[in-house]
This record gives sequence, structure tokens and C-alpha cells, in this order.
Amino acid sequence: MGSSVETLEFQAETRQLLRLVIHSIYSNKDIFLRELISNASDALDKLRLESLTDSDLQADTSDPHIALEVDRDARTLTVRDNGIGMSRDEIVELIGTIAKSGTAGLLEKLKDAQDAAAAQSLIGQFGVGFYSAFMVADKVTLRTRRAGTDAGTQWESDGEGTYELQAVDGLPVGTSVTLHIKPADTEDGLADYLAESKIRQIVKQYSDFIRWPIRMATERTDAEGATTRETDTLNSMKALWARPRNEITEDEYTEFYRQISHDWQPPAKTVHMRAEGTFEYEALLFIPSQAPFDLFSREAKRGVQLYVKRVFIMDDCEALMPNYLRFVKGVVDTHDLSLNISREILQHDRQIRAVRRRLVKKVLGAVKEVRTGDAEAYATFWSQFGSVLKEGLLEDTDNTEALLDLVSAASTHDPDKTTTLREYVERMKDGQEAIYYLTGETRATVENSPHLEAFRAKGYEVLILTDPVDEVWVEQVPAFDGHRFQSIAKGQVDLDEPADGGEEADAEKSRREQDFAALLAWLTTSLAGQVKQVRLSSRLTTSAACLVGDAHDMTPTLEKMYRAMGQQVPPVKRILELNPAHPLVAALRTAHEADATDPALAEIAELVHGSALLAEGGELPDPARFTRLLTDRLTRAL
Ligand code: ADP
Ligand code: MG
Repeated sequence: MGSSVETLEFQAETRQLLRLVIHSIYSNKDIFLRELISNASDALDKLRLESLTDSDLQADTSDPHIALEVDRDARTLTVRDNGIGMSRDEIVELIGTIAKSGTAGLLEKLKDAQDAAAAQSLIGQFGVGFYSAFMVADKVTLRTRRAGTDAGTQWESDGEGTYELQAVDGLPVGTSVTLHIKPADTEDGLADYLAESKIRQIVKQYSDFIRWPIRMATERTDAEGATTRETDTLNSMKALWARPRNEITEDEYTEFYRQISHDWQPPAKTVHMRAEGTFEYEALLFIPSQAPFDLFSREAKRGVQLYVKRVFIMDDCEALMPNYLRFVKGVVDTHDLSLNISREILQHDRQIRAVRRRLVKKVLGAVKEVRTGDAEAYATFWSQFGSVLKEGLLEDTDNTEALLDLVSAASTHDPDKTTTLREYVERMKDGQEAIYYLTGETRATVENSPHLEAFRAKGYEVLILTDPVDEVWVEQVPAFDGHRFQSIAKGQVDLDEPADGGEEADAEKSRREQDFAALLAWLTTSLAGQVKQVRLSSRLTTSAACLVGDAHDMTPTLEKMYRAMGQQVPPVKRILELNPAHPLVAALRTAHEADATDPALAEIAELVHGSALLAEGGELPDPARFTRLLTDRLTRAL
């Protein structure tokens, strides 16, 4: 050897960046190994590619691999590859300077960044890659020989501002990076990076799917104290998502799903796709057939992991899957992102947003396939995930139509089966414009609610919505297939409007209203504490009264939900509707006409209101008083 040692200075920006890296902008120091392995893997890719196109290269590509070597005495960890290698000039260019565009600007912004979090999110735009070695090493020695050349080069630095270069003879083709590991220091987040178990864990976590073997020599001491050395491959290399679909069996998909989901049921649906072009990625997503226990907990995580070129980047990647699809499990592997990409940057990345839009469409399409494929499987799926999917009707207005298409709801049409909105619309009566629904806490209270009477009698189908989220989406979603959603417990309902003879019906109606005007006015005053209005109803056939809301009033169930969540909501006064054909209402009118000052009238009014409240499953404001009034009335009646 004997060649002279040259000392060179890092480019100014590089120095700045090194200082940042060393002074721990990263809380997670483990990632240095992921960065070095990723570089080695790239170098192996490049050598394979170059040897295909350049026959003069004469490179040995018989056993491309990455080797990890630990020397506990020297306290070094070496990452070695037999990839493309670097020439002296390439080292200066690639390692000594930061060639990437925009670096200077980034560093300017970093200087201005107020705190560590801001710095962290800025640096996420940019891979520090190789320099991350200095987080765990106080000296780094890189030896490399470019394929197709004879000259080897050694680069060495303590990361402080300069590096040394010298020529080295006799190196194999490829690169070795030797880290002189700092002592373990838990306070500083420095693990024992010379420990076999730690190295195994990091490789398994971040680099398992690297397509080249990552080998490590290990020592085993047997019972007699004899040590044997063997070489282990630490990574599985099996990135199922990167293989062509037609070569993957159902069992392989299921096995992979089990690994990433810890769910023992096979998935309901598998989505495997590859996007080519300007932004390449592979996605392998699964729709589970059963819900995890924490689906509704605040801490529930999204099930999609992000990889960059087979390197694990993060779990729970919210930028790739909306909250309402948090049950989807799987992997997205992109080819053109920095390994260091942060969550914040991902959220705002235009291309990632496009990927997310595409994945959402695919997932919704797959759910639809479950529906069209097997009604029973879909019923199970919907019972598990329907409530979560319906959150999408509030969050994701881009996909309202696709989501409405998936909605499955109980209805008065068939007590044993749910219906889709499409089926509902197909059964709509001539002239029916709206999709009728009624919300409530349980199916039984809704089904027995007086509001349904006239709809039943006239043969109109009503959806029975008992999921808490139903209260909200029906208010927000404008329409399905051109039909708006109409609560039968809200607003005015006019079911008896025959197409002909309309005038006669109108005349009849106004006559009735005149007859009852005095009673209604009196009741409105008498019950002013409880309701905002008393009026005649066309919803009722058998009951005397029911309570309804104005078109945009909050329903009682929703009011209760908000209160349960600890939110302040002003009490919503409702409207009491009376059935003019009911004998009690008729008798009330007669009694009021005879003597409007009779104290019994006010008590009966209170009882009518209380009964209407009970009939819809509501709670009486003063149950004891109600019971006393009722008992008195009954006693007098006997
Ligand atoms: P990035 O990988 O994002 O380009 P790095 O800082 O990790 O950034 O590496 C800088 C460059 O150094 C790489 O692009 C590559 O050209 C070169 N390099 C790093 N490690 C190796 C290696 N093991 N073999 C060959 N080239 C390497
Ligand atoms: Mg790199």
C-alpha cells in the first residue's frame, strides 16, 4: 500500500447536516442499520443491472449478499456488500458532498426551525442516509472498490469536519462500512449495537424483506465448551407483494395476512396491485373478516405499513388509509420516497395523496365484491365493520356514492333481513320521492314507534337506523340516487295527497284544522314548558299522539349521545302531534269547548305528552308526577 493519506474537508452543507445528525435529531438511532443495509441493497441492484448491460464489467454476480460482521474486541460493526462499489471520485462526490438539490435551502430552514419537532419534520423531506452511521459510531471507515476497476479506496472520518482518503490494494469488488461503535448509553438512546440479538431485531424489524440475503456469522458454544461458527441469514427476503399475482397461492396470501394482522381468520378479501409510471408502488391489502377488539378505541391504529423499496418505514400509516378504513391491513411499498420521510411530509405529499385516493377506491371496490359475491358473508362483514364504514359518509365526501352503495340497513320491508339502498329505491312507491327512515336506540323501540303507523298503513317502507353514527350521516348526506333522506319523525308529513281530488282533501283538511284550532292553541300554551308547538298529525292511525322535530332539529338520541360524550347541548323542544281521528283527542276537544278552565284538561294534556314520550322510548322528565297523575285519572275513571 504505502500510498499517501489525503485529508479533505466536507462541503459546508454536509458539515451542518452531520452536526445535526450527531446531535441526535433522531430519537430512534436503530435506523442507522436500515440506512446502511438499504445502500448495500441498492449497490447490489446496480451491479446486477450494470452487468446485464455492460459485458466488460466482468463482475462476479454469483452470490450477491450483504454481510454483517461484529468484532467485539475492536468494538466494530461492519456492513459489507459485494455490489457496485465506488471509485475515489464517486466517494468524494457521493459521500463528501450532498448532491441532492434543495439541500442548501433545507438547511437554511432547519436553522430557522423553532424546535426539534419542526426540524424533524423538515428533515423528513430528505434522507440523511449514510451519515446516520455517526449517530452510533465515533469513527466510520469505508472501503470500496468499483466494479470494473482495480483501484480500491479507503474513506475514514470521525464526522467532525474532515475525512481522509487513501488508496488501498487488494480489496474485493463492493463496499464495506465499518462503524466504531460508541459505548451503549440508554439515556442517549444508544443500545448495544454489537449484540447479536439487537442486530437481529433491527434487521427483522426494518430489513426483513430486502431481496438480498443479509448474513451474519454467529458463534455457538456447545455443552463441552467448543465454539462453532456458522453463518445465518437474518432476513426472510420474501416480499410477497413484489411477486406477480398469478404466482401466489391463496395459502401464501393467508399466511402473510396472519403474520401482519395476528388474526387467525382468513381475510374476507385480498387486494394486490402494482402501479407503474412516475410514482411506482406495490400494495397488498387485506379486508379482515372479523373486527379487532380495539376497532372503536381512540388508540385504534390503521393497519397499513409503509415500505420504501422493501425497507420498513412505519406502521399505522395514516397518510395512506383514512380513519374509516382503519380495519384494512397490509403493506404499501413505494419506490421513490426517502427512507426518512416523516408522517407530516407524507400527509402533504401530492403523490401519496394520489396513492391514497386510488387505494381507497380499490378497497371500496373490494368490499362491494364481498357484497355481490356472498350475501351471508356480507351480512357478517357489515355487522363487524358497517359502523366504521359509515364514518366515511362523514369524512370522505369524495366517496359518498360508493359508500352509500355499501350501506346495509334494517327496514320495515322484511323484519329478518337488511336491505341495501338500491333495493329500497327499487321498491319505492309511485310518486314517493324521499327515502324514509327513523332513528332510535333499538330496533324494537323504532319498530313500535307511533311515527310508523301511517307509513305502515299506506305501505311505505321505512329504514330503521339504530347505529349511533346513523343519526349523523343521514343529516349530512344529500341524497342517494337522487332521493333525499327524510326522517319520519321530523318536519311535516303529508301522506294522504291523492293525485286527483286534491282540492277536496285540502278542503277537508282546513275544516279539521278550524275545528281543532282553539284546542291546539290552548294546548300549545299549556304545554309550553315541554313542547314548542301542538299540531294535528297525519302520521298516526292508532295512537293519539306522537312527538316530532323540526326538519333540522337534533333527534333525542343524538342529544343523548352528545350528553354521554360530555358535551353541552341546549335541550331541544319538540312538537306534539295529535291524531284528530282518535277518540281521546276528540273528547279533549269537546271538553275544552265545554269548559276551557277545567283543571283536569291540563293534567290530561300532560299525560298525553308523557305517553307520546314513552311510546318512542324516551324518558319522562318527572316519572313520579306522571305516575301520580295517571293513577288519579284511573281511579276517577272506575
Ligand atoms: P441515498 O441512499 O439516499 O442516495 P445515502 O447518504 O444513503 O443517500 O448514500 C449516498 C450515496 O452514496 C448513495 O446514493 C450511493 O451512490 C453511495 N453509496 C452509499 N453506500 C454505498 C454502497 N454500500 N455501495 C455503493 N454506493 C454507496
Ligand atoms: Mg441511502
